[in-house]
Amino acid sequence: MRNILVATNNKGKIDEIKALLDGLGLILHTPADLGLTLEVIEDGQTYAENAAKKAAAFAQASGMMALSDDSGLEVDALGGQPGLHSHRFCPIPNATDANRRKYLLERLSDIPRPWTARFKATVAIALPSGQVKLATGQCDGEIIPDERGTNGFGYDPIFFIPELGRTMAELGMDEKNRLSHRARAIQNAIPILYRVWD
Ligand code: IMP
Repeated sequence: MRNILVATNNKGKIDEIKALLDGLGLILHTPADLGLTLEVIEDGQTYAENAAKKAAAFAQASGMMALSDDSGLEVDALGGQPGLHSHRFCPIPNATDANRRKYLLERLSDIPRPWTARFKATVAIALPSGQVKLATGQCDGEIIPDERGTNGFGYDPIFFIPELGRTMAELGMDEKNRLSHRARAIQNAIPILYRVWD
């Protein structure tokens, strides 16, 4: 059994990552389980920089292998925004996911549809020694003006996947974990995990 710290406090991400790594013979920990409160400033210029910074900080603080993800939503009509700033996008203090979705739709309201978009994720795996490895994933879709579905988190209720005819929030966890940006990044990270252990 190998210990790995999932270096995020986002409950939605933790649930997805736990399901994605299930069955690999890992003991998963979260910062909350370990009583680890580490504030990592996400000031990188790329998802990779932010993911690597988070994973390295948590690996060093815990003495355990750490896995982190940095992700974002890129909307073509907004020149790729909110992108790296997807979590901080909405100017309201202590904004909720619902505030962020509403703000995004306000920004798009004068622009003709379709509002093509993609979710991107970079997963970083860091060792306490400082070694970091990266993997990426992407999921294409479009933003729709009315919320649909109650699963998932973040922008899921307004992220529509044309091939499925459903939003990300209308997918069960298993379905989201077959095609999401994070699922694809983790799938690409699994061979790296095995190599790191050899
Ligand atoms: P960070 O990776 O913690 O910086 O957060 C990225 C932000 O992008 C999240 O807070 C969400 O707003 C959004 N996001 C990332 N992945 C997803 C997803 O799977 N569904 C919906 N929103 C997401």
